[in-house]
Amino acid sequence: MVDKLHIKQFEDWFDGSLKNPLIIAGPCSAESEEQVLETAMQIKEQTNVSVLRAGIWKPRTRPGSFEGVGEEGLDWLNKAKQATGLKTAVEVAYPQHVEMCLNHNVDMLWIGARTTANPFSVQEIANALEGVDIPVFIKNPVNPDLALWIGAIERIYKTGNSKIAAIHRGFYPFEKTNLRNIPKWELVIELKRLIPQLPVICDPSHISGNADYIHEISQKALDLNLDGLMIETHRDPAVALSDAKQQVTPAVLANILSTLNFRSSDTENADFINHLEQFREQIDSIDSQILQLLAQRMDIVGEIGKYKCENNVTILQLKRWEDIIKTRSITGKQLHLSEEFVLNLLQLLHKESIQKQASIMNKLGDCKDQL
Ligand code: PEP
Ligand code: MN
Repeated sequence: MVDKLHIKQFEDWFDGSLKNPLIIAGPCSAESEEQVLETAMQIKEQTNVSVLRAGIWKPRTRPGSFEGVGEEGLDWLNKAKQATGLKTAVEVAYPQHVEMCLNHNVDMLWIGARTTANPFSVQEIANALEGVDIPVFIKNPVNPDLALWIGAIERIYKTGNSKIAAIHRGFYPFEKTNLRNIPKWELVIELKRLIPQLPVICDPSHISGNADYIHEISQKALDLNLDGLMIETHRDPAVALSDAKQQVTPAVLANILSTLNFRSSDTENADFINHLEQFREQIDSIDSQILQLLAQRMDIVGEIGKYKCENNVTILQLKRWEDIIKTRSITGKQLHLSEEFVLNLLQLLHKESIQKQASIMNKLGDCKDQL
């Protein structure tokens, strides 16, 4: 169903004035009229960014931190827009925010990660947007739940809006990491696979949490063929009232943008296409062999399940599992496969094998107590 959504590309949002890749920049928060205007002017002078972002209402984790300047910030943004010609984008979390943005000439809205995680809130915003023709970006929810992200996209789409894009800003990290939010690129790739026509941009600032990683994360996003970037930019990040560590100056932004490699996802070059085709055939054939081998492995697992059941032996034998990890890790290393990849793969295989043996034992009945 979602692959049938009729979604307009950036070029069709404002009669061709936006392009892919779309670059959005601006402060995490609007803090003062001067800060918004000066940041916008510098962005305009030093880069070819086309959209100015600014948070007006800030969803802070703990009360008491700076929660945004509120409605008056929308006037500053409007002034910045008149002065620079940049389009403007603001985060909305309540229907009243939508209304105020529409009254103050804001060009685009975005739904933040915490809001996307709550279908009640998304639906309220969607109700306020019924029949309104304004582009809406939907950030991923803080938790890595693709269905929740898609659900939010559908709720906005159902208002009759076809100017929709997603923003990938990473997911809450349960593991220890240098990044503020884990990218989990596989989820973005899956989103693209399910809704190929949906533009998806990356917010490297909230993934990184630190200005030093923004170039690297942005390049990764572009290499995955994402459709643009949203980069938090402040005239003086050191004194920013929110997200100070991850913001860059317009000059640094200009440097990042000029050193990123914007590769094309397609080419007309016949030689290249031929070569790529050959590589892909090899990959297709290898994938098919891998799947056949996996099927054979699962057949044997089934036999083992039966055998263990007949002999009244438990499914999990820790010693054997430890041996598997040890021996396969050594082989993997010799074959120059990353340790993490081999371990993930083994865990996936092991989980599936245990499930298969458990279902066999269940079917055979007598051995149920073994589980
Ligand atoms: C933001 O863009 O400043 C913001 C609060 O983002 P997120 O919803 O991704 O945390
Ligand atoms: Mn921020």
